Amino acid sequence: MTTAAAEQAILEQLVAMSRALGEPERDYVILGEGNTSARVDEDRMYVKASGARLEGITAEGFVQVWRSKVLQMLDAGDLSDAEIEQGLREALVDSSSARRPSVETLLHVYLLGLEGTNFVGHTHPTAVNAILCSRDVKQAIAGRIYPDEIVVCGTSPLFVDYVDPGVPLARTVREQTQRYIEEQGCIPQSVLMQNHGLIAMGPTAAQVEAVTATWVKTARIIAGAMAFGGPRFLSPENVARIHTRPDEQYRRRDIAGDGQ
Ligand SMILES: [Zn+2]
Repeated sequence: MTTAAAEQAILEQLVAMSRALGEPERDYVILGEGNTSARVDEDRMYVKASGARLEGITAEGFVQVWRSKVLQMLDAGDLSDAEIEQGLREALVDSSSARRPSVETLLHVYLLGLEGTNFVGHTHPTAVNAILCSRDVKQAIAGRIYPDEIVVCGTSPLFVDYVDPGVPLARTVREQTQRYIEEQGCIPQSVLMQNHGLIAMGPTAAQVEAVTATWVKTARIIAGAMAFGGPRFLSPENVARIHTRPDEQYRRRDIAGDGQ
């Protein structure tokens, strides 16, 4: 059971994280792009309301939804756009709310159910999308290129081919995340969606901000490396060594901040 004070603290952290991701100079999102969420307890979560802007967002820009009701939609068969809209409205904890959750709520609901995942930030950073919208994207992100990338973002992102946003995308991310966990034995720290954008997730809001900032830096390095013959990837041995070094694990806890 989450107390009212703890719930308020979660909302404040979500607002601060969302405002940081929405700062125009970072170039992660423009207008109403992107959405963020946080887990409140077993069944409730906060998610950005449809149409709200991350830039300067306040607590009023978020709605609380029942995760179990949204998960039912993920398991249902084909749903029309009207059925999805109605389902999202019915998932509101405060049914009298005039606002409705973003259609990407389906994605957030699934990801917030993963072990140790309390915050999710989805953005469309220009630097990252320059790579995700390229013909050679798979080649460009095929390996890790510098130690801090591994410390903050893990050994590999989950890459998802372009899928129609909404229910089809949420179902695809769920299926591929499950496969990733089976193969890698851990939860991905980030999801890269072809021709769409980035999802960063983690135990704390600080971790979500760190993963997003690191992916933007990584994307810029990859773009720069393309001018000099393309990125030189670290060997699997180098990647595994950085990932398991005790000093790097200490740094990782430091980056994630409280709650890790
Ligand atoms: Zn998006």
